[in-house]
Amino acid sequence: MRVVGTFGEARRHLSGRVGLVPTMGFLHEGHLRLIEASVDRADTTVVTVFVNPLQFGDPDDLSRYPRDVERDTDLAAAAGADLLLAPTVADMYPSHPRTTVTVSEVADEMEGRYRPGHFDGVATVVTKLLAGVDPDLAFFGRKDAQQLAVVTTLASDLSFKVDVVGCPIVREQDGLALSSRNVRLGSEDRRRATAISRTLMGLADRIESGTSDVPSLLSDATEALHAVAGLELDYVELADARSAAPMRELVGGQFIAVAARIGDVRLIDAITIENGVVDRGVRLSRPSILYGGP
Ligand code: AMP
Repeated sequence: MRVVGTFGEARRHLSGRVGLVPTMGFLHEGHLRLIEASVDRADTTVVTVFVNPLQFGDPDDLSRYPRDVERDTDLAAAAGADLLLAPTVADMYPSHPRTTVTVSEVADEMEGRYRPGHFDGVATVVTKLLAGVDPDLAFFGRKDAQQLAVVTTLASDLSFKVDVVGCPIVREQDGLALSSRNVRLGSEDRRRATAISRTLMGLADRIESGTSDVPSLLSDATEALHAVAGLELDYVELADARSAAPMRELVGGQFIAVAARIGDVRLIDAITIENGVVDRGVRLSRPSILYGGP
């Protein structure tokens, strides 16, 4: 696997069908499944590692974001990636970007309300990655369900030829969705965090057994999460998978997303629902590589 810093260098090493896996690094099994999905379907897999300052509203969250490019290089290579593109902030933004990308409506609710400007930062960097690498396929996790809707929308609106592929959520053994931020949870907070996936799995059970009363599903989940000491709930919401518009009925392709803060760590999680069938993601059968190397 080759490690490069710029789009120009990356483009010199692309051939055949190109798969792109954008990440902010500190890789875990969720990222590795995206890389493997790309290796399966593309001839050249490009993994990007870039902690994008444009998408962080909180400067402390940005400075505390875990980073280890050497570790990421080893893991991406072992998963079969061909190229790791790890630009510096100056490589990515040689000057303050005057052109930014806003995806209206899809980005407005949920994360849009709690993290103003976040999706502008995401949409701008993803647009640069799509323009700079020009992939045939781009792989994103369903954990960030609204982000997947934002990216799918921008790729279509801006006429990128790319096929945006959503991949299942990978969970730790106790159900907590893998996130690079999990390494910042102390043991007490780590225990509290399991309430998020437990609540989503409870909703999944009720939906699969035929419950369709969305207001009561959402209010029960809200109540359960409000009851967890030390957990500050931002929202529990049912939304359309493509438009990310909040919904009050179970129909077609949707997701239920949760966002909550535990101490100074903000976590999000989701389940995807397709005509009454719930995708809960997959669980690891052993502790994550986040906690002790590959
Ligand atoms: P991040 O590095 O957190 O920005 O994530 C990079 C990509 O990996 C995004 O498409 C995420 O949705 C995806 N991702 C992060 N965590 C998970 C997970 N637990 N399962 C599946 N995909 C994930």
